[in-house]
Amino acid sequence: MSRIAIYPGSFDPLTCGHVDIIRRGLAIFDQIVIAVAVNIRKQPLFSLDERLAIIEDEFQGHDGVVLDTFSDCLLVDYARRKGAVAILRGLRTSGDFEYELQMTHMNRTLAPTIETVFLAASPQTTHISSSLIKEVARFGGDVSSAVPDHVARRLSARFPS
Ligand code: ADP
Repeated sequence: MSRIAIYPGSFDPLTCGHVDIIRRGLAIFDQIVIAVAVNIRKQPLFSLDERLAIIEDEFQGHDGVVLDTFSDCLLVDYARRKGAVAILRGLRTSGDFEYELQMTHMNRTLAPTIETVFLAASPQTTHISSSLIKEVARFGGDVSSAVPDHVARRLSARFPS
């Protein structure tokens, strides 16, 4: 039986931090379902279709990576529907940890059989967040070391100098 993990997030846009977590997650799980949140709290920079197209560009033809969307439901219910054994999350800072621990305990109460698995961010990506990338790109800063090339091109097109 294949071991499926859900990797949920906004991915607005996909960064090298996300890519790192997904690639390392594939060493643990047979399949990772990248679950792109449809309703994110803030207005996204990239539409849902653009965020999906970016992830598709990065992982096309990659065995074990499945792309999906989720909205208006509990993550654990979504994970159960997908037959997942785990929710995969990345940890960068103690701030991430505080938030994630609370979520993990709540999800465990709701669905005791679904584990949350954390991967510590790699040293090269620990400073990267989608919101920081957008902020830097908006003012013409170089984000080429923090996002895949095709994402950097989309950001330059969105914020022409
Ligand atoms: P959210 O809107 O839930 O914060 P994100 O798309 O920003 O969604 O992040 C999805 C997941 O990826 C979260 O577990 C987050 O901690 C993790 N993540 C984001 N950036 C990085 C990074 N640079 N290194 C490791 N994990 C990361």
